[in-house]
Amino acid sequence: MAKRELTAEVAVVGGGPSGFVAALALAAAGADTVLFAPPAAGPDRRTTALLDGSVRVLKALGTWARLEPHTAPLAHLRLVDATRRLIRAPEVTFDAAELGLEAFGYNIENEVLRRELGAAAAKTRNLRIIEEAVAAVAPEESGVKLKLAGGEERVKLVAAADGRHSICRKAAGIATERRELPQTAVAMNLRHSRPHRGISTEFHTESGPFTLVPLAGERSSLVWVVEPDEAEALLKLDDGLLACEIERRAFSILGKMAIESGRGAFPLAIEIARHFARRRIALVGEAGHLLPPIGAQGLNLGIRDAATLAELVADARRAGKDPGGDDVLFDYDERRRPDVRSRALAVELMNRSLLTDFLPVHALRSMGLELVARFGFLRRRLMREGLGERADAPRLARAGAL
Ligand SMILES: Cc1cc2nc3c(=O)[nH]c(=O)nc-3n(C[C@H](O)[C@H](O)[C@H](O)COP(=O)(O)OP(=O)(O)OC[C@H]3O[C@@H](n4cnc5c(N)ncnc54)[C@H](O)[C@@H]3O)c2cc1C
Repeated sequence: MAKRELTAEVAVVGGGPSGFVAALALAAAGADTVLFAPPAAGPDRRTTALLDGSVRVLKALGTWARLEPHTAPLAHLRLVDATRRLIRAPEVTFDAAELGLEAFGYNIENEVLRRELGAAAAKTRNLRIIEEAVAAVAPEESGVKLKLAGGEERVKLVAAADGRHSICRKAAGIATERRELPQTAVAMNLRHSRPHRGISTEFHTESGPFTLVPLAGERSSLVWVVEPDEAEALLKLDDGLLACEIERRAFSILGKMAIESGRGAFPLAIEIARHFARRRIALVGEAGHLLPPIGAQGLNLGIRDAATLAELVADARRAGKDPGGDDVLFDYDERRRPDVRSRALAVELMNRSLLTDFLPVHALRSMGLELVARFGFLRRRLMREGLGERADAPRLARAGAL
C-alpha cells in the first residue's frame, strides 16, 4: 500500500460518542483536526441520558437540532426502594421544574447519537474523518506519531477517546486505579403499553438499580444491574419470558412490555486514570474514567472532558501557544481531576449503599432520602449535584461559546 502522508494539528483517536464530541469541539476551537473512527465492532445497545450541561455543549456545537427529534425529555426522576430489607427508604420523586428546567436531560440511543454526530462531523470544514484504527502511538518531544496500517500522522496533541482499553493511555504511561464490581449491567430497549410521561424510574434492588428511562414514543431503555450469574441467565431467556420478568420487576407501571431486538451485557468496574493528560496525550471519555451506569454520569463526564480540552486548546491557539504543550496538559489534568473523582465517589457510594448488608447504612440511606423527600432545598441541592453543575464547568456548557 502506498505510504500516506497525513498532517493535522490535533488528532482524536476513537469514534465513540466522546470521540465525536471531542472532534467537533476541537474543530470549533479552530484546530485542524483529524478523527480516527474505525467502524464499530457491533451495535451499541446502550442509551445515554444527556444531562442539561451536555445539551448546552451540543447546542453550542450546533448539533442539538439534529439530535433533539430522537430524544425523550426526562422531566421526573422517581426512586423506589424495591429491596426486601428491614429498613427501606421512602419513595422520592425529583421534578426538573423545581430547578426551572423542562427536563434533567434527554435520553437517546447511542447508535442514533453516533450516527447524527458522525453526520455533523462529516460536514465540518477543518475536521477530517479517517475510518481506520490507530495501530501505535509514540509521543515525542515536539509531537505525537500515530501509526496506521497505511501511513503515519504527526500531530501536536492527541485527544485519546479510544475507550477503556486505550492504547493512547498506555503510550502516555498513565496508570489507572481499577476495582472490579460483582455486578453486570444488562441493557436493552423496550416497547410498552402505557406511556412513561417523561418519568425515569429507578428501582433499587439488593444487586443494584433496575432503571427504566424514557425513549421517544411509548418506549424505554432498561439498565438492569444484577450479579454476573443472573445476567447470564437473563441473556438466555427468550424475548417473551424476559419481557414478562421485566414487567413483574417493574410492578407493571408501564403495562405490557415487548423487547426490541438485541440485548447488551456490561461487566461493571470502576477505573480512573491517575493522570488525565501527559506527554501530549489528553484522556477523554472512558479512556480516562470507567464508571458503573448509575446516575447517568459516564458520557456526560466524557462530554465535559471534550468541552474542557477544546477550551484550553482555543485559549492556547489565541495566545500563539502549543496546543499540546505542558501548560495545556497541566490545566486539563487540574480541571478534570476533581470533577471525575467526585462523580466516581458519588457513584461508588450510591452503589455500595445498595449492595451492603450493614443495617446502619440502610438506616442512613433511608433517613437521607426521607430528608430529601421533605425538604425542597436539600432536593434541589441533590438535583444540581446529580446534573454535575460546577463553578468550573467548561465555557461551552456555561456561555455556549469557546
Ligand atoms: C448500560 C449502560 C448505560 C449507560 N448509560 C449512560 C447514560 O445514561 N448517561 C451517560 O452519560 N453515560 C452512560 N453510560 C456510559 C456511556 O455509555 C459511556 O461513558 C460512553 O459510551 C463511553 O464513550 P467513549 O466514546 O468514551 O467510549 P467507547 O464508546 O468505548 O468508544 C471508544 C471508541 O474507540 C475506538 N477505538 C478503540 N481503539 C482504537 C484505536 N486504536 N484506534 C482508533 N479507534 C479506536 C473504538 O472502536 C470505539 O469506537 C452507560 C453505560 C452503560 C454500560
